[in-house]
Amino acid sequence: MTKSIVYNIPATRIEAYRGRHLIVRSPDPSEMLQSLAQEDLERLAYLQILGTGGSIESLRRWGPSIPVDLVVQDPEADLPLLYRYAPLPADRPVRVSVPVVPGFSKIVKLALSLNFAVKLEISQPEPALIEELLRVATLYLHQSTVSQPVEFIHSIFLGFYNRTPLTLWAIQEEEPALFRYVTDQGAETLSRRFAGVELKFGVASFIKEFTAALLSEKQECGDCEFFENCAGYFKWPRREYRCDGVKALFRTLQTAAEELRADLAAFDTPGEENRS
Ligand code: SF4
Repeated sequence: MTKSIVYNIPATRIEAYRGRHLIVRSPDPSEMLQSLAQEDLERLAYLQILGTGGSIESLRRWGPSIPVDLVVQDPEADLPLLYRYAPLPADRPVRVSVPVVPGFSKIVKLALSLNFAVKLEISQPEPALIEELLRVATLYLHQSTVSQPVEFIHSIFLGFYNRTPLTLWAIQEEEPALFRYVTDQGAETLSRRFAGVELKFGVASFIKEFTAALLSEKQECGDCEFFENCAGYFKWPRREYRCDGVKALFRTLQTAAEELRADLAAFDTPGEENRS
């Protein structure tokens, strides 16, 4: 069955997109709720709140248990404000989208302790950020108190575990066959980080053409063992970005998934691991 495209739109454009599957965004939760009609709710994937400064009183009184995605814009400034959202998970699932910039792991730890899911917004991390990402991956994989997913780490790990890889484009909601981002000016693109960028290949075919171009260059992606999981995600915007660090992260998740598979196989067949 073909999946419908989900459009991420500003609350001000809801009239133009009524009847589609939607993510509605605004810095002001009250504005978002006022823009919605009853008929919108069954096709609403989630509400996206930009920044942590808006009033959430109307959201706390709002009945439908539609999930909320809280987009952190400045991890340092937004850190203390995250506590304001602590009552929300009782009413609806809450995810915090965190930009991978220096110090981002502090807000990830706080979000997880408040029982929020996390989505890491990543582009082309430099070596210091790779270290921080590896620490977050270790926390996610081995800390028993973590009960919420940390995306993209969670889905990449599951892809290795189930041996059914999903690409980072899909996990990060940037696959145009599944998601479109509508800018404040009304232009359709892949996601927030592509807003204002003229896409050489067009939106619908961007990933297909971009990955084909990467493979034809016979550079780093051509013989990358993680191409099925990544599909050249880390080669945008700078093609010359070196992937040694992100490959170490993929390898960490792959090793952890294989170890878990081996542990569970041994658990299913007691004594099997001791036979020669
Ligand atoms: S990790 Fe780097 S080299 Fe490998 S597929 Fe992704 S972008 Fe290409």
